[in-house]
Amino acid sequence: MIPVMRPLLGEEEALAAAEAVRSGWVAQGPRVRQFEEEFAASVGAQHGVAVSSCTTGLHLAVHLLGIGPGDEVVVPSLSFIATANAVRYTGATPVFADVEASTGNLSASTVEPVLTDRTRAVMVVHQAGVPADVDALKALCEPRGIVVIEDAACAVGSTYQGKPVGTNALLAAWSFHPRKLLTTGEGGMVTTDDADWAVRLKRLREHGMSVSAADRHNGGSAVIEQYLETAFNYRMTDIQAAVGLVQLSKLDAIIARRRELAARYHELLEGTGVTAVRDPEYGTTNYQSFWIWLPEGAPDRQEVLAGLAERGVSARRGIMASHLEPAYEGHPSAPLPVTEAFTARTLILPLFHDMTESEQDQVMSALSETLHTVQMTVRV
Ligand SMILES: *Cc1c(COP(=O)(O)O)cnc(C)c1O
Repeated sequence: MIPVMRPLLGEEEALAAAEAVRSGWVAQGPRVRQFEEEFAASVGAQHGVAVSSCTTGLHLAVHLLGIGPGDEVVVPSLSFIATANAVRYTGATPVFADVEASTGNLSASTVEPVLTDRTRAVMVVHQAGVPADVDALKALCEPRGIVVIEDAACAVGSTYQGKPVGTNALLAAWSFHPRKLLTTGEGGMVTTDDADWAVRLKRLREHGMSVSAADRHNGGSAVIEQYLETAFNYRMTDIQAAVGLVQLSKLDAIIARRRELAARYHELLEGTGVTAVRDPEYGTTNYQSFWIWLPEGAPDRQEVLAGLAERGVSARRGIMASHLEPAYEGHPSAPLPVTEAFTARTLILPLFHDMTESEQDQVMSALSETLHTVQMTVRV
């Protein structure tokens, strides 16, 4: 079976994890600090705060802004459900906005209609690695005192206006889950240019402590910490950070290979009536997920997935729509026609670093056979 995704993990990561274990320092410590510095620099941010996942990072970002019950945060429904849930954790209300069909992302024109005088933030997602037009959103939001938070879970190595996604971000949250391009098993990071926010985020991830546990150990027994506010345990371990540092050193190679394979998919798809994810005019995607829209008249998405599976290709449904899940049943929402078409009519094809051209050819023939067979059946 050709998998949809396979993380690029090798001996170097195994050795780095083992070294962290042998050092005796396994909880948040020097490797986390180094990973924060190197990761933040790679995405063009001043500060990085490592956390246990992107989900907990998003929660901290919303919490940091003092957003809570009675407040609204605009999110795309077309996203992994953690985007909307992070708002709910604070007691605030996620308000779903529709997305652009070309990018799968919120835009100023989809967000504007759902803003109210209770909107405190917009959480924009760079969905599947395709950069969102953040400057246009900031131009809409900032005059109204609305903060733009970036859910950059998928966007490491993507670019916007010639710079890494994350450059000039007020607050961006990243994921190191194995489904993303860099992995630490589980893990996340919040980046920001605001030094005060970074200090508070570090406190919020560590029980509200005035001195981090690592600094307390290094400083000897005289340092007694205080607990300045009710906070969380969202720390990353040094074992994870050790793996993350090795992964980060492979990022450029990972992006180059994915873009090469994506370009080849585009060539192979030419003339088939299938449209696929592409770079928007203002940036480049890391092709974290290579999604395609099924052509007009093509069979049901589930049938296509089943047909591909029969032929040894593990594809996946396109991005989910949170408002259609039981967890959001009864949650009020404006109509989301593009989101609903997107989630029903897209699917994700295999794309991973070690994928060979012959595996890619196998995916393409499975796809054309599946589309062809089912169309014939329809005709009969
Ligand atoms: C994967 C993902 C998340 C959650 O990331 P975790 O690190 O697994 O918590 C959040 N938002 C988006 C858009 C994602 O793709």
